[in-house]
Order: sequence, then structure tokens, then C-alpha cells
Amino acid sequence: MGVAPSIGVIGAGILGLTAALRFVQAGARVTVIEREDQVGGLVTSFQIGGSHLERFYHHLFRSDRDIQRLIAEVGLADDLIWARPDTSSLYRGRIHSLDSALDVLRFAPLPPAERLRLGACLAYLKLEPNSRRFEGQTAAAWIKRWMGPEVYRVVWGPLLRAKFGDYAEQVAMPWFWSRVHLRSQSLGYVRGGFYRLYQRLGEVLEERGANVVLGTEVHAIRSVGERVSVETSSGDYAFDRLLATTPTRVFMRLAHGLPEQYCHRYDWGDTYGAHMVVLGLKRKLLDGVYWLNIHDADYPFMAVVEHTNYLSPAEYGGLHIVYLGNYLPMSHELFRRPDEEVLGRFVAALRGINPLFHEDWIVESHVFKAPFAQPIVTVEYPTHIPPHETPLPGVYLANMFQVYPEDRGQNYSVRMANRVAAQILAASSGEPSDWKFGGRAQ
Ligand SMILES: Cc1cc2nc3c(=O)[nH]c(=O)nc-3n(C[C@H](O)[C@H](O)[C@H](O)COP(=O)(O)OP(=O)(O)OC[C@H]3O[C@@H](n4cnc5c(N)ncnc54)[C@H](O)[C@@H]3O)c2cc1C
Repeated sequence: MGVAPSIGVIGAGILGLTAALRFVQAGARVTVIEREDQVGGLVTSFQIGGSHLERFYHHLFRSDRDIQRLIAEVGLADDLIWARPDTSSLYRGRIHSLDSALDVLRFAPLPPAERLRLGACLAYLKLEPNSRRFEGQTAAAWIKRWMGPEVYRVVWGPLLRAKFGDYAEQVAMPWFWSRVHLRSQSLGYVRGGFYRLYQRLGEVLEERGANVVLGTEVHAIRSVGERVSVETSSGDYAFDRLLATTPTRVFMRLAHGLPEQYCHRYDWGDTYGAHMVVLGLKRKLLDGVYWLNIHDADYPFMAVVEHTNYLSPAEYGGLHIVYLGNYLPMSHELFRRPDEEVLGRFVAALRGINPLFHEDWIVESHVFKAPFAQPIVTVEYPTHIPPHETPLPGVYLANMFQVYPEDRGQNYSVRMANRVAAQILAASSGEPSDWKFGGRAQ
């Protein structure tokens, strides 16, 4: 009997871990190589108030069915909780709830006729099932035409600018459609944090014999004959197949021997990083609001997320947890400024949101930064998404930058992992070997 083929996976985010699970379930020998010291990728956690919390705010939507299935598969279905916390907007220094059809009709910054237009267009986008009819259009042009220039100026323009900066006017309409169409008011979270999902995935992989190598950075990928060789910070590996889940731009730097035409087409576009300040406070900052979008341009962050207006502060030793988030060009000065300086700027701005806020409320503070956190989904974006099969024999690429038109999210990485794993397993099963993928159920 032949030996089970070996598959290497680069990256232990949700995509890499889910794909690795599918490979071990099919009986392959699997090695996951991860640069960081813990699994989770963009969803890694830290400890605060005695509990695990994501460095960057995370929740699920009802439409995130692929990840809900995965959560159930690893035995955590009973720990997936749902709640309907309040989403609001800060406009000209006042907080307005913007969470329901009724809120839209009451949204004072817009004249009544514009509120009706906004409500009607949101209802249309909720009902329209086909994103393809919006292909080739920018969100800005569509919104200005159908919702009206005033709705763009007050509501969507500031939000698109906050997320995409100078690219705001170029963002693709199918992406905007997906934000409205797929998002639910009810939000999901794993009791004890997403940390538990990632730990569980790591355990399941180890139980099934996968090798999860942490703290090891991949430096180079090469196809050599029938094998794929991977050079890392802790030695070389050779696999029959390799799945890279790094951002496309990172893959382009690691892979040797890619044709020029391929690089020209797919080594393309811009990406923003994420910057996050997390505060543990003695007192509540926002009165009942979970998510506060900042429409006013003079704030140094684009959203305030009071996590403990979703879960009780009791889960975090009584601390009130507040995220202050930003997506920014990776060269932005905020990524280089000393944390204390950034904190000073952010904390000063909080008084504009709650005049009673005082620095004494801060029990602890943390600053987290991640590069390659937000694809800039412009109209041209879909033509620059590479296929999973790369020109290097045996090497596949799957990452959150290939998610379209949906906004990237854990669910879409799980969905992609399931598909690309099936593709790799199917391609491999036709090989002249007496071992077949899928031939050894576990
Ligand atoms: C601020 C913020 C808020 C978000 N909110 C939500 C939310 O509410 N809900 C939701 O579902 N999603 C949310 N997301 C998106 C979600 O985090 C991502 O879609 C998801 O985590 C992507 O997983 P991934 O495995 O595809 O990529 P990643 O998590 O980026 O994993 C890639 C892995 O590859 C590793 N790697 C890279 N280069 C190398 C190398 N050379 N060698 C070895 N390893 C390497 C990285 O360390 C990383 O672990 C949010 C993201 C951000 C930044």
C-alpha cells in the first residue's frame, strides 16, 4: 500500500485550520506552518479580566452558515450565542440609533423624504438576491443616484471614507450590496471567546495526527520536480501539495518561479492594515450602544465597539471593554507612533462621545496592529483575484483577499477552505498511486 500524500498548509488562521481539518479527515499527512506563537490569525486573543478576548472585535451574522456548521462540527454549537445589540451613529456630536426601519424613519440628520429614500433602497438591497446586476458600478455612484447625494453625504460617504480612505469613491457596488444584503441585526459570539473555537480546531488537528508548527515563518516556496519545497525560519520541509493562506501579496514574495504575466495581473491593488485600541474601563462608556459608527471627521477612530454592551462585564471581572478601531494604509503614521501617544489622542476624543468620561476610568489599555487586514474592493478588484491553482505545480493559494463580493469574514474563509480542500483532494485522487485521497475514512 502507498504512503498517504503529505500536504503543507501555510497559516493557522481560520482558513488554514479548516482546510487542514478537511485534509486530515481525508487521511492525508498534514503540517500547518504558522509564523505566530498561537493559532487564530486575525482572530487571535489576549487575556483581559481573566477571560480571552479577540484583539480585534469579532462577531458573526445569521447568514454566516459555513462557520456555524464548523462550530457545531467541533462540538461548540451550544456555546454559540446570539443577541441583538444596538448599532448607532455619531453625527455632529449626537448619537442616533440606526438599527431598524423605524430608526431610519426617525433619523433626524436627514430630511423626511431622504429617510424614506434611504429606507426604500435598503429594503431593495435586502431583497435583491443577485449581486451581479451591480457589477461594474461603484457604491458611491449607485448610492448618490438611488439614495440621493444628501444620504451619501450624511450616512454612507463618511462610513466609506472611514473604512477605505482615499478609495472610498472607487469601492465596488457588489461589496456594498453584500454588506446590506447579508448582515443580520442579530449577532453571534462564542461563549468564552472565539479563542475556544481556535483552540478546539488545534486540538482536533493534533488528535488526528496533524503537525501544527507555531512560531515558524515561511521564507520561500519552490516547486521541485513532483514535490513542493518550503524554506522556513526553523528548517526546510517538502510536501506533495502546498496550500498557502497568506495574503496574495505575501505569497508573491515567497513563491519562486512565478511567470511575469501572473505577477503582473495578481500582484495588484492596495490593502489596509487594522489598528485597534482596547480599553478595560471601570465604568460604561456608551449607554446601551454596542457598535457606534463615527460619521464626524474629527475623530481619530472610525468606530467605538463596547463589547460589554453585548456580553456582561461580569465575563471580564467587571471591566467594561471598549474597542476603538481603524483601517488605515499600512504606511500610516499611526502604526509607528508610540502607544502612549496614540492612547493620549484617542482618550482625549472619548470626551466628545461621553462628556463624563475620565482617564481614571481606564484600568488597562492595549494597542494591536495587523497588516493586510482589509482588502480595498474597487470595481476592478474581481479581475485581479487569482485562481486557487497557481502556476507552480502542486501549489495552491486561498486567502481572504479572494473573497468577493462579500466583505471578508471568518465565514467566507471557512467556505473557501472547504472548497479549495475539495479541489486539492479531487486533483490528487487522479494520481497514479495506490493511495487515494478520501480512501481512508477516520
Ligand atoms: C478589525 C477587524 C474586524 C473583523 N471583524 C470580523 C467580524 O466581526 N466577523 C468576522 O467573521 N470576521 C471579521 N474580521 C475578518 C476576519 O478576521 C478574517 O476574515 C479572518 O480571520 C481571515 O482568516 P484567514 O485564515 O483567511 O486569514 P488570517 O487570519 O490572516 O490568517 C493567515 C495566517 O497566515 C500567517 N502567515 C502569514 N505569512 C506567513 C508566513 N510567511 N509564514 C507563516 N505564516 C504566515 C499569519 O500569521 C496568519 O495567522 C475582522 C477583521 C479585522 C481586521
